[in-house]
Amino acid sequence: MNTSALSCADCSAPNPQWASINRGVLICNECCSVHRSLGRHVSQVRSIRAPNWPPVQKEMLFTLYNKGANSLWEHALHNSSSKVKLKKPSYRDKLQTTRHDFIIAKYKNLQLLPRISHKDNPNAYQDLSKQLHASVRTNNLETCLRLLALGGNPNFCHPERGNTPLHVASQAGQAMQVELLIIHGANPCTLDGLGHTPEECARSAITSLKGQTFENLEPMAKVFSLQLMPPISTAL
Ligand SMILES: [Zn+2]
Repeated sequence: MNTSALSCADCSAPNPQWASINRGVLICNECCSVHRSLGRHVSQVRSIRAPNWPPVQKEMLFTLYNKGANSLWEHALHNSSSKVKLKKPSYRDKLQTTRHDFIIAKYKNLQLLPRISHKDNPNAYQDLSKQLHASVRTNNLETCLRLLALGGNPNFCHPERGNTPLHVASQAGQAMQVELLIIHGANPCTLDGLGHTPEECARSAITSLKGQTFENLEPMAKVFSLQLMPPISTAL
């Protein structure tokens, strides 16, 4: 991929060579060193030139990037009514002071995210989790990233449906949503109310989606390392 026209999400340096997979952003070599220091629970970095990158994960990353995931993490910078007094650094600023502090504020302390009022809605986290549970059946990755960032629980068990967002995404054949949820901590071993794992839901979906083409089913099969031979569309 030609990255020369792209820029670092944190300091705007040209030609970023690293990605933060769970944040959906591209970053430069120097900002990457700060991301690494924060730990994988904050930022999971990977070279965009790394070999053997799972194709669904790579597609998920660039989908989030192209949908403007960085504007989520920097929401307050673009909101004139925000009270947050942070300024985006430049790649000319010192790494160990200005850029370091900005990256911590942005990804660890989440100071620039939209605010959720718990005073007006004591069930705010449950509502976010329910929205996440419903949204993962669609291909709207950026909505799900926003819900996860705001506190939606990737392991939320829906009280009426008895399953988690990972079961729903698997059943719906949404491979990139499955990747996003797992990267954000969804447990692939969780059982739904019928005792099924997400992988079993994916297997069931692959078997039942008879109108789908091999190309449409292949990403989900790869995520769960399922066999998809011979192509279902020609075997039926
Ligand atoms: Zn940078």
